[in-house]
Amino acid sequence: MNFKLSIFAIILSLNAFCQSNPSYEIYALKFGERTNKIPVSDAAVGATGSDSLNVCFMYWLLKGSNGKIILVDAGFTDDMKINPKFIAWSPPEQMLSKLNIKPEAVTDIILTHPHWDHIGGIDLYPNAQVWMQKEDYNYFVGEAWQKGGNKNGFNELDVLKIVNRNLNQKLKLVQGDDIEILPGIKVFTGSKHTYESQFVLVDSASDKVIIASDNAWFYYNINSLLPIPVTHDVKAYSKNLKRMKKMVTNMDLIIPGHDPLVFSKFPRVAVDVVKIK
Ligand SMILES: [Zn+2]
Repeated sequence: MNFKLSIFAIILSLNAFCQSNPSYEIYALKFGERTNKIPVSDAAVGATGSDSLNVCFMYWLLKGSNGKIILVDAGFTDDMKINPKFIAWSPPEQMLSKLNIKPEAVTDIILTHPHWDHIGGIDLYPNAQVWMQKEDYNYFVGEAWQKGGNKNGFNELDVLKIVNRNLNQKLKLVQGDDIEILPGIKVFTGSKHTYESQFVLVDSASDKVIIASDNAWFYYNINSLLPIPVTHDVKAYSKNLKRMKKMVTNMDLIIPGHDPLVFSKFPRVAVDVVKIK
């Protein structure tokens, strides 16, 4: 290859590299909260002391410079017949209007795991391609409902929803750890919150942001490295907390799944909506 041609090849590959790394605006949207606090010992195995924690329900939006409108998790609907005495909430899709986004415009949903409060809302976004770990899907639609299976936090109606997505060719099953599923967006497994739960790393220009979802319920878990009680493997969960901490430079940029502190750490762009990045 002559000199001119090789320069041309370098420019082409640089161009391809830049194109494959869009920037993402990252938002957290809170659509509900528990009406009572929980003792810290219920949130972190091994925690002592009499502290208690507020619990909220949120999902995350990644708005890409490439036109992608990606949700991480989908919130829930009223399928669970939630008792308002314990949880105050409003339909999660309504939060999107605060950012002038219509539910139909959502292109992708990355499901971190199929617990009712994370998967229940997928049908609110009819055009979205859903991404989920293959082993998590298999367990959710199969073994969980067999004798001896662990179906804690699973809702039968959600099984039908995700099977329907699959029938409609709107489900992509991701297999394994450290997989780039979309440009600049990687998923990682390891915490075993469900059979094969995953977290999301958004590699947006300088800083990396981890959407941990329930792979850390609270900043308390991240700081203390104490696992939550809901996991198939307590040791794996703690190990994964350590791993996430090595992947970012600022611990605040590991976004836990149920911590209202998220909404005071970052700039507010609307009521119950903050911009993480
Ligand atoms: Zn969960």
